[in-house]
Amino acid sequence: MTDCIFCKIVAGEIPSDRVHEGEQVIAFRDLNPQAPTHVLVIPRRHVATLEDLTPDDGDLLAEMFTVARKVAATDGIAERGYRTVFNCRDEGGQEVHHLHLHVLGGRQMTWPPG
Ligand code: AMP
Repeated sequence: MTDCIFCKIVAGEIPSDRVHEGEQVIAFRDLNPQAPTHVLVIPRRHVATLEDLTPDDGDLLAEMFTVARKVAATDGIAERGYRTVFNCRDEGGQEVHHLHLHVLGGRQMTWPPG
């Protein structure tokens, strides 16, 4: 997807503060962090939303959550706890249409989300 900002980050055409580089998945710090730790875990391959995954993508999802746990451990928030979020499509508040898992932590989270 030539006009996808996260595909450009994967390709290195747009700079990012990367914290993980894997075969299927990368992770980088959010440009507009909503918590002391705010990392986005994304597949290298373009997938628009959670609804665009197929039953064959189970391994990809598992890898994304494994990377989220690694980020939490590296940032020292695994013990205290953290939040993982997929915003999906318009009413889910998704703005970038390339699948991404938010990893948020380092402060007390509140509920319900806005
Ligand atoms: P969402 O609303 O779930 O689609 O989240 C998109 C996230 O991408 C937001 O938290 C943005 O701050 C973040 N974002 C947008 N552009 C960049 C970028 N170039 N580098 C890092 N994070 C970005």
